[in-house]
Amino acid sequence: MRGSFRKACWVHLQGRDARSDVERIARLGFEEVLPSVVAVGGPLYPSRVRPQHPQAGGRDLVGEFVKEAKRRGLRVHAWIVSLCYPNPAFESSHRDWYVVNRLGVSCVDEPPYVPYYKWLCPSRPEVRDNLAELFLEVTDRYEVDGLHFDYIRLPDALLPKALRRKYPGVPLEDVAKPEFDYCYCKVCRERFAEEEGVDPVEIPYGSDLYEKWIAWRAGQVTETVKHVASRVKRAYPGLEVSAAVFPLSVALRYVFQDWPSWGLDLYHPMLYHEFYERSVEWIGEEAKASAGRGLPVSVGVLADFMKSYSEMEQAFRYALESGARGVTVFAYPLPRPELEEWVAKALAGI
Ligand SMILES: [Zn+2]
Repeated sequence: MRGSFRKACWVHLQGRDARSDVERIARLGFEEVLPSVVAVGGPLYPSRVRPQHPQAGGRDLVGEFVKEAKRRGLRVHAWIVSLCYPNPAFESSHRDWYVVNRLGVSCVDEPPYVPYYKWLCPSRPEVRDNLAELFLEVTDRYEVDGLHFDYIRLPDALLPKALRRKYPGVPLEDVAKPEFDYCYCKVCRERFAEEEGVDPVEIPYGSDLYEKWIAWRAGQVTETVKHVASRVKRAYPGLEVSAAVFPLSVALRYVFQDWPSWGLDLYHPMLYHEFYERSVEWIGEEAKASAGRGLPVSVGVLADFMKSYSEMEQAFRYALESGARGVTVFAYPLPRPELEEWVAKALAGI
């Protein structure tokens, strides 16, 4: 298996030194990096497509990192936060592009769960084009091997179990609630009404029609992915297009991701077990369920959830044995010093 199993990590770029980070990442045993090129809040380089991240201050945090990573022989996939876009300048100039909940409230005014939860609606052709322009701008500017969608979904209709107690008003069971249920913007409502003859605000929860409405919304996310990926592939046929996705068992109902139908080159399911109140073994089960369907996956592991070297080693081994193509660690810089030691040792063993 050695040599063909991919070893990757997501990398945060803010407030870091590119040269020493790349050196350290390579020494840990990673061969691929997914640097944060567009973070929550905006691009970390001066962009013509979207206003820059307020903390980037006109600087290009991406250029130097990509240059160093390529010099060190690492493969680079640009990590692009796609539909979650809290940015005061953009919110005021493009208010209509943001999602609206079943009560008719825009996420710009009342974001669900956390203040940064401001999401663009995937049903809008303008949103799809804007995202495609962003992806193309990144490939025009930087020597990357691939492009990576993240936050490519609607806000969570259902939260992972462990997070439900964290926020007020969130049901502990698997039931949708109007204030967390998106998107009921003008475009979504009118298009669904045209196609199905009913305004989605009138659809009762639990009905067959509501199931259709879930599938319709997932279809909008799928169309957005396909639109962006096809424009990228037309311009740069050799680039790999991938996405960070929710675990297969919950992706559709929690966040409207029908990712097996997206047609991408690689998926990185975020198998962050503690969010689902599961043990490390669950990582293996989910990975097997995806890889067993013939889906090209690299198993996303949240390093900070590992309580011992043995858990880290198990997670990586489960990924390897599941038939997945690799493991992707969230995220560099690792938040505890012992994690570096565990990651390095576990990567060397697979
Ligand atoms: Zn909408």
